[in-house]
Amino acid sequence: MSNAVIEQITTIRNPEYPHIVWLEIKSSDGHVGLGETSFSTDAVESLIHGEFSEYLIGKDPYKMDLHWDQLARKIRVIRGRGVDGSAVSAVDMSLWDLFAKKVDQPMFQVLGGLSRDRIRVYNTCAGSSYGVKRKDFRTEAGSVDHRPGSLYEDQHAFMTDAGALADNLLSEGFTAMKIWPFDVFSNESNGQFISSSQLDEGTEPFIKIREKVGRKIDVMVEMHGLWNLVSAIRIAKSVEPTAPFWFEDPVPMDNIDTLAEFRRSTHIATTASELSALRWSFREMFEKRAMTICMLDISWVGGISEAKRISGMAHAYHLPVAPHDCVGPVTLMFSLHLSLNIPNAIIQEIVRAYNATWYKDIVSVLPKIENGYAFPPTGSGVGTQLLETFRNNKNTTSMVSSL
Ligand SMILES: [Mg+2]
Repeated sequence: MSNAVIEQITTIRNPEYPHIVWLEIKSSDGHVGLGETSFSTDAVESLIHGEFSEYLIGKDPYKMDLHWDQLARKIRVIRGRGVDGSAVSAVDMSLWDLFAKKVDQPMFQVLGGLSRDRIRVYNTCAGSSYGVKRKDFRTEAGSVDHRPGSLYEDQHAFMTDAGALADNLLSEGFTAMKIWPFDVFSNESNGQFISSSQLDEGTEPFIKIREKVGRKIDVMVEMHGLWNLVSAIRIAKSVEPTAPFWFEDPVPMDNIDTLAEFRRSTHIATTASELSALRWSFREMFEKRAMTICMLDISWVGGISEAKRISGMAHAYHLPVAPHDCVGPVTLMFSLHLSLNIPNAIIQEIVRAYNATWYKDIVSVLPKIENGYAFPPTGSGVGTQLLETFRNNKNTTSMVSSL
C-alpha cells in the first residue's frame, strides 16, 4: 500500500511531430512516469484531460492493473485501434514507468526480468521524414518524401535499388529488412485490384535483393492492411518465390476470417497486427489461427501491461511476438524492454533513419544497436526521458491537469 497519489497529468506536443502526444504523470512522492501515443492527437489529449484525469487525479499511482481496468470500462471495447485505446496506452506506459522508477529498476525487470541478453532487430526501410512531419501521410499510401543527400533515405532506396540497400544494411550488421513496394499501387483502386504489370513492378525489389545478396538477409513484406483478399493473395503468390520472412497486415483487420483465409493461402508467415488493440481482439485472431506471428504496438494496443498480457496469450498458442516501432522514440524504448522480457519475442522493429535523426532530437537515450541486435537499456524505468532542449523548444506546448 502506498500513500502517494497522482498529482499531475501533463500532455506534451510539438507541431514538427503532429501525430504524437507525450504524457507525463507525476506522483506526490516525487516520481514522474513517461508515456507516448500517436494519431488522433486532439481527441487523445482531450480524453486524457477530460474523463481520464477526472478519474486518475488523486488516485494511488501504483494500482496499475486497477486503473487499466477502470479506464478500459470507458473504452467500451472497440475492436480496432482507436482514440480510447491509444489514450489508455499512454496512461498505462506512464504508470509503469513511474512504478519502475519508484522501485529503481529497469522496465524489463519489473516485467519479469530478461529472457535474453539481446534481441535481433530488423530495419524498417523508411526515410527520416516518412510519416512524420507530414499530415497527408495516411492518405497517400506508398508516397515517398525523398530528401536527396539526407541520411538513410531507405524508402527511396528500396524503390530504386533494393539490392544496394540490402548490401548497405548487411554492411551495418542488419540481417533483416522490411519494405512495402506494393502500397503505391493500392491508391488507384483503393486496394480492390492489382494488375499483372504492377505485381511484376512491386516484386522487382525482392528479386534485386536476392540477386545482390542471396539469402543473407530476411525480407519482410509490409502491406499496411491496404488490400482486399484476392489482391493480397495475388501479391503473396508473386513474392513467394523470393522466400520473404513474413507478410504483414495483408488485409484490413476488421474481418478475422478473411485474415485466416489469407494465412491458409500461403506457406510464408502472416504477421498481424499493429492495427488491432486490446486482448479481446487478439483472442479472436489467436482462436481462429489467423496469424503466424503476433505484432503489436505498445502505444496503441493498451500499453505495456496489455502488450505483456497479449504476448502471454500468444505464447499459449505457440505464436512468437514481434513488437512494432515506427511512431515515436518512447514507444521504441518500451518495445525493447518487452522484447527482452517475454520468452516468445523473436525480433524487434527499428528504423535506423529515425534513430539517426529526429528520435535523437526528442529523447535522452535510444537503444544501443550493434551488429543487428539491440541491448538492454540501463537505468530505472523505461530508461529515457524527454530532452530539456525538446521541452524548451519554442513550438513545444503542454497541457496540464492537477490536484
Ligand atoms: Mg506495420
